[in-house]
Amino acid sequence: MKEEIKAFNNVLELIGNTPLIKLNKVTENLEGNFYAKVEAFNPGHSTKDRIALYIIEEAEKRGILKPGDTIIETTSGNTGFSLAMVSIIKGYDCILAVSSKSSKDKIDMLRTMGAKVYVCPAHVSADDDRSYYNVAKRLHEETKGSVYINQYFNELNVDAHYKSTGPEIWEQTNGKITHLVACSGTGGTISGTARFLKEQNPNIRILGVDAFGSVLKKYHETKEFDNDEIYPYRIEGLGKNLIPSATDFDVIDKFMKVTDEESAHVTREIAKTEGLFVGYTSGAVVQAIRQYAAEGEFDENSNVIAIFPDHGSRYMSKVFSDEWMNDQGFFDSINAEEVQKIEF
Ligand code: PMP
Repeated sequence: MKEEIKAFNNVLELIGNTPLIKLNKVTENLEGNFYAKVEAFNPGHSTKDRIALYIIEEAEKRGILKPGDTIIETTSGNTGFSLAMVSIIKGYDCILAVSSKSSKDKIDMLRTMGAKVYVCPAHVSADDDRSYYNVAKRLHEETKGSVYINQYFNELNVDAHYKSTGPEIWEQTNGKITHLVACSGTGGTISGTARFLKEQNPNIRILGVDAFGSVLKKYHETKEFDNDEIYPYRIEGLGKNLIPSATDFDVIDKFMKVTDEESAHVTREIAKTEGLFVGYTSGAVVQAIRQYAAEGEFDENSNVIAIFPDHGSRYMSKVFSDEWMNDQGFFDSINAEEVQKIEF
């Protein structure tokens, strides 16, 4: 009988409630207990499913979105994929302005999911006409019945994590979490999750992860925007060349910068040793944990929750390609014999 079939009504019902998985090898030599909240278990394979669904449903509730309208966004890929997925189920058109730094896999996936994609140059300033921010703004002005998600400056991005990621972690750890370690791009994940967790227990340490080439760490420390901090780097989705209003710097205790090279090697190590096929910024988070540990952040009683934002399949032509790693010079510091031993 129909009622007996245990099925979800559509893919969107699977968003959220991602598992915590204990890290056994990559943090083996560190004091403390380390767990990853593996956001790749979302149906769109990243944490951005949460904000896509939440922001669209809030816009519907507020009467801003009507059937047949268009969703517009700037995205390094993950948010775009999630928005395209939600748009399919809910019947919206989806237009995405994407940085040319995004991997070909990601862009192909967005098109597969029915989105119209504009690829914009990565290494221009945010106020340049060709930047993906300005292209999205222009498309929004030119497209009738369109909604600009604007994740970097949308408080709903933070709310999505305040209402889902934060409570899930609190419940999954029975309130025993002592540290949260998370990447900051828009800042939505770390800010919303931290805001909820600090309300439960203000002693929980909130540790951010930033990239060399990004302005966030320096801004957090000085409250000044330092242009000299900004230069091109390879990790996608982590760090920023502007200050997003979706980042609540007050709930973040500290930032740590990580390199492209170390993060890439750690990402591969996570796959090899934990059997967890996750994205480049998950490697960045574990690299940051090692650096935080070296500064004495953790002790044997620490319960550290690391957010792993997305799935490894999005980086096949990058971090998981030996050729790409070699082209970046990331094998230079390892001798040739060792490269032979690392079988990918
Ligand atoms: N990792 C990846 C792979 C991402 O795409 C993003 C989002 N830009 C982040 C981390 C950072 O998340 P947030 O934007 O919530 O700070």
